[in-house]
Amino acid sequence: MRIFSASLATETNTFGPMPTSTSSFRDRGYYPAGKHPETLTLFSGPLVAARMRGKDAGWTLIEGMVAGAQPSGITTRHAYESLRDELLADLKAALPVDVVLLGLHGAMVADGYDDCEGDLLQRVRAMVGPDTIVGAELDPHCHLTTEMVENANVIITFKEYPHTDVLERGLELVDLCVTAAQKKIHPVAAMMDTGLILTVHTSRQPARGFVERMQALEGRDGVLSISLAHGFPWGDVPGMGTKMLVYTDGNASQAQTLARQLADEVIGMKDALTVNYPPIDEALDQALAFESGPVIIADGADNPGGGAASDSTFVLQRMIERGVTNAALGPLWDPIAVRIAFDAGEGARLRMRIGGKISPLSGQPLDLDCTVKALKRDMIMTGLAGSPTQMGDSALVEADGIEIVLITLRNQAMGTDMFTQLGCDLAAKKLIVVKSSQHFYASFSKVGKHVIYVAAPGSVTLDLSTLPFKKIQRPKWPVDSIAG
Ligand SMILES: [Zn+2]
Repeated sequence: MRIFSASLATETNTFGPMPTSTSSFRDRGYYPAGKHPETLTLFSGPLVAARMRGKDAGWTLIEGMVAGAQPSGITTRHAYESLRDELLADLKAALPVDVVLLGLHGAMVADGYDDCEGDLLQRVRAMVGPDTIVGAELDPHCHLTTEMVENANVIITFKEYPHTDVLERGLELVDLCVTAAQKKIHPVAAMMDTGLILTVHTSRQPARGFVERMQALEGRDGVLSISLAHGFPWGDVPGMGTKMLVYTDGNASQAQTLARQLADEVIGMKDALTVNYPPIDEALDQALAFESGPVIIADGADNPGGGAASDSTFVLQRMIERGVTNAALGPLWDPIAVRIAFDAGEGARLRMRIGGKISPLSGQPLDLDCTVKALKRDMIMTGLAGSPTQMGDSALVEADGIEIVLITLRNQAMGTDMFTQLGCDLAAKKLIVVKSSQHFYASFSKVGKHVIYVAAPGSVTLDLSTLPFKKIQRPKWPVDSIAG
């Protein structure tokens, strides 16, 4: 068995203020063929899974390029085409192969390409021909398209949000693709559009139960795999939306029926899935009213994982104006402030301009009397599924009773160690504000007593009705009100 694996992944916020460039990939993770480290990254699930399975089975695994970028605005044409062509050249050099395993995201949009993964999978299929099995693992925040499904034999999305199951889904993909290459199964797909765009937090009901239901159906009665593609509302492309994807063993009508049935179940859950997002002052009122702490406030609108700059000051400004103390906030992306903190040194007291630098959606910069409490070169945060995540040179500064983590490499809050390794005692805080939509939950819910999702302004605004969509298919609930 000859297997080729590679990855190309980012999530594009087409409303985001900064482009995604080749540098964005080099900052987050770019490994030329054969150079991927042992540890898992968010989009190398298939590669790491194939290493694990192949060791005992004696497969020949050819490792191509792995590249992933922190979400940002539209990917430059040069970045997409050059990385795509590098991956395809790696594949060409590996031919002939029985199986191609790709770690993609599914919501990458480039200048001139509304559906990068559809384009890539079409080219992969053209290169390997109809007999090679092509499989892809996607993030559920993808724009699942017909082009992707038609050019792959198997597509599996992560089931969990936070995405804690990258490796598990990768192993399933490897197993299904290898079994298909051995002609023991014949996966056939059915994709069903719900007509909705949903937020699906699998940490609680009713999404929790739906994940368990999908898993209970898999591996029985010819059902091979079930994925719920949540979709990514901040990508203005025709493929945007929440969709079901079902694979059965050779039975197309069974796949269609089950996909329709599950899509109808999802449609029935739409109101229960809706998250309550209070505005900033209401969120602060709710947080301060709790007797016990810490209370986590998630500022998803400025989540760099959704393409925001992660330097907005809307929440911080109100905390300072209201005199909220015993609080922590981060990570705030401000390489200039970090540089100044390093120049001043630990223990220094100085006036610093914090945040609010990238666009009007970052708010106003705040001029604060700061104490530099801790500095760390090349800080590593524990990311999802334990993957080490680079934060760059980082500083903990304190101003007005609020400890703020400043970083130089844009990343969202995933592991509490982004605070604690700088000496910030999270457990003793009343309030912890994180730049993250939901990935924070896996780690921060262990220290936080309560979680509030705040509706602040930002590039990942939670009020979808304010986004200037031009290309998505309408109607799309809740952007448009529809029956059903
Ligand atoms: Zn995602």
